[in-house]
Amino acid sequence: MKRWNGWGDDTIDYPLPPAAARFLEAQVGPGSPPRDASLEEVVASVPPSRLPAHPLVSTDAATRVRHARGHSLPDWIALRSGRIAAFPDGVAFPSTAEEVRSLLRYAASCGARVIPYGGGTSVVGHINPLPGEAPVLTIDLARMNRLRSFDEASRLATFEAGVTGPDLEAQLRARGCTLGHYPQSFEYSTLGGWVATRSSGQQSLGYGRIERLFAGGHLETPAGPLDLPPFPASAAGPDLRELVLGSEGRLGILTEATVRATGVPEREDFRGVFFPDWERARGAVREILQARLPLTMVRLSTPAETATTLVLAGHERLIGTLERLLAIRGVGEGKCMLILGCAAREALVKVARHEALGIARKHGGVHVG
Ligand SMILES: Cc1cc2nc3c(=O)[nH]c(=O)nc-3n(C[C@H](O)[C@H](O)[C@H](O)COP(=O)(O)OP(=O)(O)OC[C@H]3O[C@@H](n4cnc5c(N)ncnc54)[C@H](O)[C@@H]3O)c2cc1C
Repeated sequence: MKRWNGWGDDTIDYPLPPAAARFLEAQVGPGSPPRDASLEEVVASVPPSRLPAHPLVSTDAATRVRHARGHSLPDWIALRSGRIAAFPDGVAFPSTAEEVRSLLRYAASCGARVIPYGGGTSVVGHINPLPGEAPVLTIDLARMNRLRSFDEASRLATFEAGVTGPDLEAQLRARGCTLGHYPQSFEYSTLGGWVATRSSGQQSLGYGRIERLFAGGHLETPAGPLDLPPFPASAAGPDLRELVLGSEGRLGILTEATVRATGVPEREDFRGVFFPDWERARGAVREILQARLPLTMVRLSTPAETATTLVLAGHERLIGTLERLLAIRGVGEGKCMLILGCAAREALVKVARHEALGIARKHGGVHVG
């Protein structure tokens, strides 16, 4: 089950490698972990619900705790310490757009605030109820996760908005396609959440950010339903998809979204390059991007992020060997890591890789494979 007070499945532990603990201590000083509040303690602190009974609304305290906060650092501190200012008064799990519509009517009738909830991976506080007079109803779309239609010719796929990244990709891959949208929260975040937050993925350079992939959908709003049909590119009038892109659920609940899929690429290729310093790394990345190569990923880390990534990777001996080899090539303290990705036909991947690595080399980059 998803951890209630942090990231990941609670059956999997993520122990900090000893070298990483030493590294963190060197950066921020020694620390002593405070005692974590238990789920039982937090559940016991949940006040009674202010919502009238409804067959689709759960007022179970543990469910309300699990929907109280997102995944920002302040959220994790609140959850780990058990100091949570407000909980939703109830959580609904609709299965259809009609049920969403009836829940919006119910919320209006009892003056409740509504929070649409996808995977709950928000890092900006928008799924957190605020303390106040009005009751809060969280509408979790977890049950709305089906593929509704797939058109082989246009590769337009319509999913219910609560589908998570892995489920969406599995359905498309089974049809020889991919969306190519991989935010780092991919495992838990949902299609509706991606659209509502204007999300960007690890390979968005090639596949496009969600605004390029989102072709249309269906929205349930307090004023009634709104269809956003997937029109081809048009120069006429405003683009109504902009109403929902980045809306953070303020205008309504996206129950269905149509996305533009791509054929699974013949080859996916990822390369690591290290630069002696930030200035040279930045110069290389600028030139690579200005060359408009068909890359899907150009991810550059600062010296601090590079050092953290290497030490958190574990494999102390392997990383030690890599660092010694890089030092011989003049890439030591202050180095920056660049990951280049390409997903395309084999021949195109070869050309893009050759060109990008050539530019990197010119700027002092060392390709490590
Ligand atoms: C470890 C980690 C890594 C991350 N990496 C990335 C990244 O690489 N790129 C990136 O862009 N973001 C990233 N994020 C942020 C977050 O995952 C994204 O904003 C994601 O799109 C949220 O999706 P969600 O389904 O979890 O939405 P939620 O967190 O549930 O909701 C986010 C917002 O969208 C609204 N909403 C959700 N579903 C709907 C719906 N169906 N209709 C209307 N409104 C809705 C909510 O009310 C809320 O305002 C990361 C977060 C974490 C914790």
